[in-house]
Amino acid sequence: MEQTLSIIKPDAVAKNVVGQILSRFEAAGLRIAATKKTRLSRVDAEAFYAIHAERPFFKDLVDFMISGPVVVTVLEGEDAMAKNRELMGATNPAEAAPGTIRADFADSIDANAVHGSDSVENAEIEINFFFAQREIY
Ligand code: ATP
Ligand code: MG
Repeated sequence: MEQTLSIIKPDAVAKNVVGQILSRFEAAGLRIAATKKTRLSRVDAEAFYAIHAERPFFKDLVDFMISGPVVVTVLEGEDAMAKNRELMGATNPAEAAPGTIRADFADSIDANAVHGSDSVENAEIEINFFFAQREIY
């Protein structure tokens, strides 16, 4: 079964919509294999988003991701990576399709409610960043 990583970002956690977002994953047939609430340190966030280090929005992205707790989840199911990306909607909520998580819960391209792995290879790296194997079922 394919696995992918989801992060419910600080804006959505602050809005108290964690349960609503997790419900959407389950309703779409994805299973929660692991989940926890945590808060990233600056070093954690910089490492997690290292791929974006040269982008102009990198510092704002890191500042935002450490501004409050997040909920990280391993989702499992058929085509889990693509299915999660579809449920999330476009990066910019203004362009996200109606009914997607970002259309319904995100306010801006910075505070865009969720992160999802963008390839199966990155999913494995991101899952290992947050979880030990003994935490995933
Ligand atoms: P994520 O990686 O969070 O799942 P994504 O894959 O849709 O989102 P990326 O291109 O990987 O988008 O960008 C990572 C994050 O950086 C975005 O979710 C967003 O919060 C932020 N970001 C991306 N592009 C911009 C931008 N032009 N201005 C400000 N922030 C941006
Ligand atoms: Mg991305």
